[in-house]
Amino acid sequence: MRVQTADKIKLKIIHTTPVCQLRCFNFKSLKFTRLPHLAGSQQNLDLAKQIRDEWMEFGLDSVELVPYDVLLSYPNKTNPNYISIVDHLGTEIFNTSLAEPVPEGYEDVTDIVPPYSAFSAKGQPEDELVYVNYGRTEDFFKLERELGINCSGKIVIARYGKIFRGNKVKNAMLAGAKGIVLFSDPADYCADGVEPYPDGWNLPGGGAQRGNVLNLNGAGDPLTPGYPAKEYTYRSSLEDAVGLPKIPVHPIGYHDAVHLLQHMGGPHPPDNWKGSLNISYRIGPGFTDGLNQNKVRMNIHTNNQVTRIYNVIGWIRGAVEPDRYVILGGHRDAWVFGGIDPVSGAAVVHENVRAAGKLMKKGWRPRRTLIFASWDAEEFGLLGSTEWAESLILILCVCVCVCAGMYTLRVDCTPSLHTLVYDITKKVSSPEEGEEGMTLYQSWHKRDNSTERDAPWISKLGSGSDFEAYFIRLGIASGRARYTKNRKTERYSSYPVYHSVYETYEIVERFYDPSFRRLEAVARVRGGLIFSLADSPVLPLDCVEYAMSLTKYANSIYQLALKHPAAMQQHSVSFDSLFFAVENFTVVARDFHQRLDQLDTSNALAVRMVNDQLMYLERAFTDPLGLPGRPFYRHIIFAPSSHNKYAGESFPGIYDALFDIENAVDWQKAWDEVKRQISIAAFTVNAAAETLKPVV
Ligand code: GLU
Ligand code: CA
Ligand code: ZN
Ligand code: ZN
Repeated sequence: MRVQTADKIKLKIIHTTPVCQLRCFNFKSLKFTRLPHLAGSQQNLDLAKQIRDEWMEFGLDSVELVPYDVLLSYPNKTNPNYISIVDHLGTEIFNTSLAEPVPEGYEDVTDIVPPYSAFSAKGQPEDELVYVNYGRTEDFFKLERELGINCSGKIVIARYGKIFRGNKVKNAMLAGAKGIVLFSDPADYCADGVEPYPDGWNLPGGGAQRGNVLNLNGAGDPLTPGYPAKEYTYRSSLEDAVGLPKIPVHPIGYHDAVHLLQHMGGPHPPDNWKGSLNISYRIGPGFTDGLNQNKVRMNIHTNNQVTRIYNVIGWIRGAVEPDRYVILGGHRDAWVFGGIDPVSGAAVVHENVRAAGKLMKKGWRPRRTLIFASWDAEEFGLLGSTEWAESLILILCVCVCVCAGMYTLRVDCTPSLHTLVYDITKKVSSPEEGEEGMTLYQSWHKRDNSTERDAPWISKLGSGSDFEAYFIRLGIASGRARYTKNRKTERYSSYPVYHSVYETYEIVERFYDPSFRRLEAVARVRGGLIFSLADSPVLPLDCVEYAMSLTKYANSIYQLALKHPAAMQQHSVSFDSLFFAVENFTVVARDFHQRLDQLDTSNALAVRMVNDQLMYLERAFTDPLGLPGRPFYRHIIFAPSSHNKYAGESFPGIYDALFDIENAVDWQKAWDEVKRQISIAAFTVNAAAETLKPVV
């Protein structure tokens, strides 16, 4: 009886979130974006308290601020960061700007942190410049192996886009560079026919992308890997900190970039290395003939500093299974106003909490415990969410990300959530004008059909957001949902004003989502997900979907290995064990769901038993030893790509062992490692299958 009522209420949430809520939503978002909310700042603490108070008013059982003391990084207020061109006498003849021109209406705001690369090393390296395109692994391969250019001892300049900036910095360090400049090229940060903000949503020439340049590999706070950063926690020294770059890094906009790039000498790059500035994009090293005495100098004085951060954690105690948790979270900290990132996401969580509170006031209580989180210091390396994950272990996680486009829905999630995502989007209506009567599923399907089946595309989870510790480290089923641009035209370059001062409330209201219907649709998807995960007597997870994904991933990693037929034969490399394991998993998953159909749902213990099997399936894919060199990345099926943290890689252990194997120093050793990784993958998949077998 009770469950039925809850089900009805759940449907009501999906179908009929009252319009008045949207106005509130709209208004809240404005309130959240008036001031900067940098992690570690007083404003971000004030906002945490405000959110705590409002969540209490909405009717959560309890809401608390959870503090951690983590390593953050800020520019030196009295000694600004910039990059110069210096002549042969050492005189600075050009300096990059110290701040972005502030958008209209925000002139009086203080505490706007200038563009910087958080956790950059300090220093003033001076040398010739080398243009390294996006700074990807393949770009450095091209430079070093095909063009014969040595970056050692040089300052490299890379354009933003395609991959996580921390990977660019790591690649520059590996190439021996002593500094790296990151710039936003209009080719990647301006759409055709769109004006720069405020007349349109393109990045203005004076805008630049802030962001951390860490390589944490899931560690969280660089000083306390593995343990929550409490007051009493042992902290490693800065020399032993995880993931800090050893070289200075600094971001600039395209107006400044023109000055650094326009007189570069050296060879012309391949055509696909050319951006859309009106310059010839030479590779260097250094400037053209008459100017080859000139050098580039970086002046970086950014400080690392242990700083207190605060997660806001709200609870609704489950009525039937209070010791099973479903979590919905998003981050609160912003580089400046955070109009898109994170506020469009945070406002959605806020509305989901309000909706849950309204139901509570009508007497509803979920079957399982619901946890809402407003994470801090995401921008500094997913610190708040990771430290909290280091404090306890949960069941299911849905993460909130931002509205970063106007084209269609984008969902990244674990395979066992695919079916639920499709079911929910079939019950939500399309937010697009002219699509009245169409479902979100139909609208999404039309715009982004999967290449593998007739259904909308769902991506693998990568990283660069707060679900990382839950999914990749702890093996908790996770997903994220957002509105996005056309995936086929741009995959990882984000949106033009990303992490700049131009991410205002107004840019969302004027361009991204004037009616707020797209955000509303995303809110309904997330609401649907958490309410059905929290309330369904049997967890709505689909193991057969996992089996299908495993089959796909096994085939694709096998195809990759087949590029080396001779070596495969010579080293007797076989994928049979992996294919048998995947087949075994598939059979067991089908049987499991057949038994599930016959389940006596009035038998509470039997229900609890299958729910535990469903819940622990994701956990079964983790390996306590972690991936090679990445002890906090423990999921054997998924990890952030070693070349791009934003992208997900399937069977990452095998993938990394195969990567560039033709250039390995010791082929025997390299292929032995491939074999070892295949056996780990096969064992893990078999072990996961074991967990779904009948309990005897
Ligand atoms: N989302 C932030 C960014 O992309 C942080 C990502 C991370 O540190 O993983 O800059
Ligand atoms: Ca820690
Ligand atoms: Zn964000
Ligand atoms: Zn961000």
